[in-house]
Amino acid sequence: MPANKACFLDRDGVLIEEKDYLCDPDGVVLCDRVEEIFKHLRARGYKVIIISNQAGIAKGYFKEEQLIAVQKRLDELLARFGEKLDGVYYCYHHANGVIPEYTRECNCRKPAPGMLLQAAKDHNIDLSQSIMIGDRVTDLQAGLNAGCRAVALVRTGHGHKADLSVLPVSVTDAPDLYTAITTLIP
Ligand SMILES: [Mg+2]
Ligand SMILES: [Zn+2]
Repeated sequence: MPANKACFLDRDGVLIEEKDYLCDPDGVVLCDRVEEIFKHLRARGYKVIIISNQAGIAKGYFKEEQLIAVQKRLDELLARFGEKLDGVYYCYHHANGVIPEYTRECNCRKPAPGMLLQAAKDHNIDLSQSIMIGDRVTDLQAGLNAGCRAVALVRTGHGHKADLSVLPVSVTDAPDLYTAITTLIP
């Protein structure tokens, strides 16, 4: 079976609007041109997979049930135009959390590549044909650490304050997700 290629996306500030530690399903707002983005990726054979740090769980800001409710709302909004995420990976951990179960160093919190490596295993993905897009430098580092062929920063969400000069390679710098995707995958 030939390997798949994926477009890995950070969730907050990228696929949906950044709302600090989002835990209310009514706060889910999709990014601009999201239907076109999915059409573009599907036409080019890409799986679409969320890779998201959700340390609000470890920090006790919200509970897993709330994260699931937010995810359900996101799924509903995508289903309105017939789309579905191929995978969703969350890291609940933080080294300075308050919920003992999730308070630790882990290999999944970005910039570590753990979630991308797990997704590659689960979905038979060739990382060297895949891309990662985020609004923080750590999102891009996770993609680079995992061996993605390209990564891009979007200036939505926290992206306006990201400093790309800390990265060892030059990366795509885009105003929004539609531009990032159509630049990396013409
Ligand atoms: Mg983000
Ligand atoms: Zn983790």
